[in-house]
Amino acid sequence: MATIFSRIIAGEIPCYKVAEDDRFFAFLDINPLVQGHTLVVPKQEIDYIFDLNDDDLAAMHVFAKSVARAIEKAVPCKRVGVAVMGLEVPHAHIHLIPINKESDMII
Ligand code: 5GP
Repeated sequence: MATIFSRIIAGEIPCYKVAEDDRFFAFLDINPLVQGHTLVVPKQEIDYIFDLNDDDLAAMHVFAKSVARAIEKAVPCKRVGVAVMGLEVPHAHIHLIPINKESDMII
């Protein structure tokens, strides 16, 4: 069965899309820690991020960087934090979380 993120990428479940290319998709987290909290996911359905091959893992981070640059422009923040969790949804993803001060780092 497709993961919820695959269903979002396919357009079956609505989301606020931030960016997309041929391999990756970025959208706002439905339960954001802060405004602008964004998830970056590979279109390839793979559970554990470190099971991606080296090329895809590197490309995912380059894509995440371009998304972070867009977040920096859209949301007032000092920088965009990066977190890899992946306990809830079995589809590899990176959290991009705008942060303004140390106390924003709650994860
Ligand atoms: P993790 O697997 O990294 O622990 O957490 C998964 C993240 O996906 C959570 O922050 C959760 O809010 C987000 N999420 C789960 N289901 C949906 C959904 O249907 N739409 C969106 N936009 N985000 C989701």
